[in-house]
Amino acid sequence: MAPWQSPWHNPAALQSPTALEGLNARIVRCRRCARLVAHREAVAAAPPRRYVGRRYWARPLPGFGDPRARLLLVGLAPAAHGGNRTGRMFTGDRSGDWLFDALHHAGFANRPTSAHVGDGLRLRDAYITATIRCAPPDNKPLPDEILACRPYLLHELRLLDRVRVVVGLGRIGWEAYLKARRALGAAPAATRPVFAHGAASDLGDGVTLIACYHPSQQNTFTGKLTMPMLRSVFIHARKLLGSA
Ligand code: SF4
Repeated sequence: MAPWQSPWHNPAALQSPTALEGLNARIVRCRRCARLVAHREAVAAAPPRRYVGRRYWARPLPGFGDPRARLLLVGLAPAAHGGNRTGRMFTGDRSGDWLFDALHHAGFANRPTSAHVGDGLRLRDAYITATIRCAPPDNKPLPDEILACRPYLLHELRLLDRVRVVVGLGRIGWEAYLKARRALGAAPAATRPVFAHGAASDLGDGVTLIACYHPSQQNTFTGKLTMPMLRSVFIHARKLLGSA
């Protein structure tokens, strides 16, 4: 069954840039999680030496990419001095360097780097979102913060009705997508998805979920995730989607 025919798709939620823009305008004003609001603003007020004098975004991050995307990436959260500084997901930090290299290699991005919002980066057929939209202390959101932010992900999933391949960046992003599907009424997959790097799960409604280790420095510095491993995930996604 094609995703736009799936029972959990809301046919009233027309996929359009305008609808996504409206959602994103709501997201950037959100102050629902007191701990995260305090943290995102505190790190901006006391940046490390390399960013002293730089203006931080210090607000929630909206999703980013092609509103007609067939590939969706679900990450964890903005980095305190990456997205929380630049105002765009996976922008201005090492995780983004890795991710966009891999996306560019597979033809989903027009350039292999992501430095700042004015750098000309464009995603093609891909959209990036996150489990929560504000940088958490130690990159560890609390369960109630994940729950508080979930409605934004649900809304995005309704709007991005062409998505056929989802890459979960890290276990939390991978699980967030599966939980969001359940919240939207999707039937469980016939075979229980397993989180292992590169593992692809056919979810039974035209969507394939691919697990991917998060391109955090914790993984890339230690060699748990190498560039060939990361590229292979998006090459797989490209094959599933075809070259169109
Ligand atoms: S994490 Fe999500 S729900 Fe919480 S303040 Fe940020 S945008 Fe709002």
